[in-house]
Amino acid sequence: MKAAVLHSVGDLRYEEVEDPRISEGEVLIKVKACGVCGSDVPRVMEKGTYYFPLIPGHEVSGQIISTEGKPGDIKKGDRVTVFPLIPCGKCAYCKIGRYNLCDNYNYLGSRCNGGFAEYVRAPADNLIKVPENVSYEEAALTEPASVALHALRRAKVDTADKLAILGTGPIGILLAQWARIMGAGDIFLIDIEEKKLKFAGEKYGFTKLINSRNDDPVDVIKRETKGRGVDIAIEAAGVPVTLRQAIELARKGGRVVFLGNMRGDVTLPERIISSILRKELILYGSWNSNFTSLPKNEWETSLRFMQIGKLKVEPLITHRFKLEKVREVFEMMYKKSEFFNKVLLIP
Ligand SMILES: [Zn+2]
Ligand SMILES: [Zn+2]
Repeated sequence: MKAAVLHSVGDLRYEEVEDPRISEGEVLIKVKACGVCGSDVPRVMEKGTYYFPLIPGHEVSGQIISTEGKPGDIKKGDRVTVFPLIPCGKCAYCKIGRYNLCDNYNYLGSRCNGGFAEYVRAPADNLIKVPENVSYEEAALTEPASVALHALRRAKVDTADKLAILGTGPIGILLAQWARIMGAGDIFLIDIEEKKLKFAGEKYGFTKLINSRNDDPVDVIKRETKGRGVDIAIEAAGVPVTLRQAIELARKGGRVVFLGNMRGDVTLPERIISSILRKELILYGSWNSNFTSLPKNEWETSLRFMQIGKLKVEPLITHRFKLEKVREVFEMMYKKSEFFNKVLLIP
């Protein structure tokens, strides 16, 4: 098959490789679409994967080609999307269904071969069927949609809660959409790129957009909330300044969610640390998503809300490329030479 193979940091090649071979409990999937995650760009261009050579890509949708052993109710021809974290199934966290906290997990696209390929192998237990009226392209966004949902469920969003979302990439907009679905009140979207804010406004009708290059979001939100701050602030940009702002934006007794993968170390001024104490903030880390039936499988919820048309992911897709263009795609995203939101690779 053809695949995009990472040989070393920055050395991503579109080339012929052997077809994956599946073993007991696994399936072979013909990839129909694979999203490029914000985390894939530094993984390919700066940090590398856990092993080389390795095929990146963890936002996969596709069709089952073959199965091995007893793959449950999954059969040839099924349309599926793949939970990319492969839990060990044995550790204490796996036993209580908290797979995202597994002590010894594998991961599609960073620890084992992923979806930037014609075919990918995955355990049948990691699959979820895609509803009839959800396209493969939409289904490829189940992972980021579930990551966003998970962060909001961590923070226990309540009706009329005011939210500030720092970072308006795909995850930021998904957070805002979910917050709206959950009945949040004012939703402030913050970014330094005007184009990203405009995109969120035009495609999704969000109106409380703050360009933090021009305006201090702390001032703006203080003004808009009568000095109080927001109930929930979510850091989804992964830069030190937004982490600091998230803490500053939360009201007394408010919640702060750390979701973005931080690029670089963060120094917090004494004043900010002190405000965490004095405001009695609740800080949540959020990692991945829930893929267990209890309390709720967030992947099922994401697909369900796509199916009923409440969660709109299609407008997020700004670019679709043939997989053979993978090198140019990463160059473009790394250098930000074009505006993009969600970028899909199609084998
Ligand atoms: Zn992702
Ligand atoms: Zn485990």
